[in-house]
Amino acid sequence: FMGCISHRTTNLCSNQLIATPTTPTHLDVTSALEALSLDGYFSFNNNNHAAKDFGNTYQFLPLAVLHPKSVSDISSMVKLIFDMGSTSELTVAARGHGHSLQGQAQTHRGVVINMESLMGPQMQVHTGEQPFVDVSGGELWINILHETLKHGLAPKSWTDYLHLTVGGTLSYAGISGQAFRHGPQINNVYQLQVVTGKGEVRMCSKSKNPDLFYGVLGGLGQFGIITQARISLEPAPKMVKWIRVLYSDFSAFSKDQEYLIASENSFDYIEGFVIINRTGLLNNWRSSFNPKDPMQASQFDSDGKTLYCLEMAKYFNPDETNVIDQITESLLLELHYIPSTLFLSEVSYVQFLDRVHVSELKLRANGLWDVPHPWMNLLVPKSKIHEFADEVFGNILRDNINGPILMYPVNKTKWNNNTSMVTPDEDVFYLVALLSSAVSSKATDGLERILKQNKRILEYCARADLGVKQYLPHYKTQGDWRAHFGPRWKVFAQRKSSYDPLAILAPGQRIFEKGR
Ligand code: FAD
Repeated sequence: FMGCISHRTTNLCSNQLIATPTTPTHLDVTSALEALSLDGYFSFNNNNHAAKDFGNTYQFLPLAVLHPKSVSDISSMVKLIFDMGSTSELTVAARGHGHSLQGQAQTHRGVVINMESLMGPQMQVHTGEQPFVDVSGGELWINILHETLKHGLAPKSWTDYLHLTVGGTLSYAGISGQAFRHGPQINNVYQLQVVTGKGEVRMCSKSKNPDLFYGVLGGLGQFGIITQARISLEPAPKMVKWIRVLYSDFSAFSKDQEYLIASENSFDYIEGFVIINRTGLLNNWRSSFNPKDPMQASQFDSDGKTLYCLEMAKYFNPDETNVIDQITESLLLELHYIPSTLFLSEVSYVQFLDRVHVSELKLRANGLWDVPHPWMNLLVPKSKIHEFADEVFGNILRDNINGPILMYPVNKTKWNNNTSMVTPDEDVFYLVALLSSAVSSKATDGLERILKQNKRILEYCARADLGVKQYLPHYKTQGDWRAHFGPRWKVFAQRKSSYDPLAILAPGQRIFEKGR
């Protein structure tokens, strides 16, 4: 498949749009697209950016990029391709902010929709008892944050990084440190407007077209293009108390995390990291956090150790400082971290939520943002997390990866089981995210080595039958996808034949192939 990476020429790649008497030729297709009456426009040249993503390992050049200005631009384009039937192999990939890892928002010689250029609806914040905001599917979460804050409100559930689109994260789940309480972002949506693979524009919610609504949420872009979403809001705090502590004992770390996510009166955000053999760790923290006990902290040595960092946040408003200090202190008293490693910081709510953007700017400045990212995200059942940690952190990963390793539990009871998202079969499971950057071709941190390591971890999980599921899943065969979905495959495949029977949408996920 990768062999077909090419620049636009009038010759077609051998496995695409193979000429038969009834097959529209490349020129037919281009002129049919050009003949559409649109509010926006197509670009047929200089589309290399649409063949790239954050993962930076897959590149498929599209035939055209649609820059839609209206929902009808999207629906008429999809309808045109649908009406061509299976004589055309043209597919359509909605592209949010292009932060996919393995070409999921790309299409080989198909049409990419640049969702960020979709205008409207103008972000509309509705205050009242159940506040919400109506946004375009191509809207970035960072813009939603700024707009809703003007009304003292904000979405409840986030991702760690906000320069992602609504349509992009709702196609997976949208998981961060608030998910233990509110569920992922797909649990915090009231209504969607969707363009199906037949080009129909449909509104859906839990009471209207619920099958489409739940199918699209976590649906990997397979059933429709999200053009609008109604996101649930809550009153936004002004400030955040942001806390980090370290553990050397995995059991104490996971026990404390599980204790915290089980309580309603806990922190507002709970995550964690695994840190293997990192020199000067606490010194680095000092740029953003203050040690509670500077003397003791300066004597702590992280060299050669595997450490577990519990990261917590408590939201507050300036007039609540004293009460929040007391609550935080009493919550911390229940925990079993290494006392000298308590670090605290107070930042605005925006600074806290947009924290990864600060790292992005630093990495960009050093040319380290546009490198390959062989990331792997796993959902591990609570009952197997010790076994998993022993093997993965005690054996497979002997050294730190080049990037963070996130590890935190969430409550499945907060997850809506009707969505397309697949999770392990237990009430609590951990998100384990190995967020490697392949910064050089050296043996230690090169792409091949990281991919091999990821493969070893996946093979171990399968061999030990841990019941692990991939998050932001990536498979190459339909057999693997069937195994991923397990008993839910039947519904997934049924929904595909109802809403996108020709398999036009999101070909980069490699679940269904057009014309088969
Ligand atoms: P794209 O990469 O553009 O698209 C992703 C998929 O969704 C593609 O298949 C695409 O065709 C489809 N799609 C895009 N828009 C639409 C639409 N409107 N309708 C239907 N389908 C659509 N995820 C988390 O859950 N939690 C995190 O904390 C988190 N942190 C991240 C941090 C960074 C730095 C990065 C790069 C990614 C992170 N992610 C996280 C993963 C992220 O949620 C996904 O990569 C997401 O797909 C990115 O959104 P995007 O807008 O760039 O989507």
